[in-house]
Amino acid sequence: MKKIGFIGLGIMGKPMALNLVKAGYELTVYDLVAERMEELVKAGAQRGSSGKDVAARNEVVITMLPNSPHVREAVLGPNGVLEGARPGMILVDMSSIAPLASQEIAAKLREKNVAMLDAPVSGGEPKAIAGTLAIMVGGPEDTFEQVKGILAALGSSVTRVGEIGSGNVTKLANQIIVALNIAGMSEAMVLATKAGVNPESVFQAIRGGLAGSAVLDAKVPLALKGNFQPGFRIELHIKDLANALDTAHELGVPVPLSSVAMEIMQALKTDGKAGDDHGGIIQFYEQLAKVQVRGG
Ligand code: NAD
Repeated sequence: MKKIGFIGLGIMGKPMALNLVKAGYELTVYDLVAERMEELVKAGAQRGSSGKDVAARNEVVITMLPNSPHVREAVLGPNGVLEGARPGMILVDMSSIAPLASQEIAAKLREKNVAMLDAPVSGGEPKAIAGTLAIMVGGPEDTFEQVKGILAALGSSVTRVGEIGSGNVTKLANQIIVALNIAGMSEAMVLATKAGVNPESVFQAIRGGLAGSAVLDAKVPLALKGNFQPGFRIELHIKDLANALDTAHELGVPVPLSSVAMEIMQALKTDGKAGDDHGGIIQFYEQLAKVQVRGG
């Protein structure tokens, strides 16, 4: 399958689509914001006029949109993917959305013999550009086999984790762990600083032990510089935690720590920091303790 439709050319979708063009795929692209298609068209992609149009021209369609309502609209809404899809088409939704939404959308598509995978990603814009995303996939194994070559052009790890919705469950697990790690790191670094111990020395002393983590290595150096440029914005993490809380509550799973992380991020949003990198969670603790973690 050398022809792919790609819908949603934002921070993540644009570099991902460019990597598919570079890998030799013929792309038809579509975004609600027309200018976002320009760079892709210059790189050799065809311009689509709607989700319906993109689906009518392709056997595989990828979506990379903000959240569940956007995916529902683009796929099931008027002039959406479903209206243009022929039986046998495959939709790969790479957005981070609620797992239950993935399951509902997939059920609607199945009525028309269209298959769907949920395949959210981790790694952010740098890894989207480098084509080294971690991709976690849910959906039928035979469908996965048909598109895993395409996904390999976007990521360095492509893992099928189970049936439809399980890709997004995995992404929610990822986002809970990342949020709580950042909060834990922040709490600890603020304590060390207020106690008069150099936070840079604390970081160097503990990073090789059990407290060491990818989050510690990525976020402490930025916190020491007071650099909260995104990266991954707090407002997007709020969206993921809202999906995590909804999903957990529908399943009857209490997630007390996730709800605390959510309230910390809500406080930062009220404070005008929704556009900061999620490493900016440390600012919440700095305000409480009246101390700034700086050094390096
Ligand atoms: P973005 O807001 O930059 O891009 C979304 C794009 O979708 C926009 O260009 C918008 O115009 C388009 N769009 C919205 N509704 C549409 C519709 N109905 N039809 C066509 N186009 C439509 O978002 P992003 O940062 O690229 O994130 C996309 C997804 O990837 C989100 O679910 C996000 O949580 C996830 N994600 C983002 C990052 C990151 O670091 N930015 C990392 C991992 C995962």
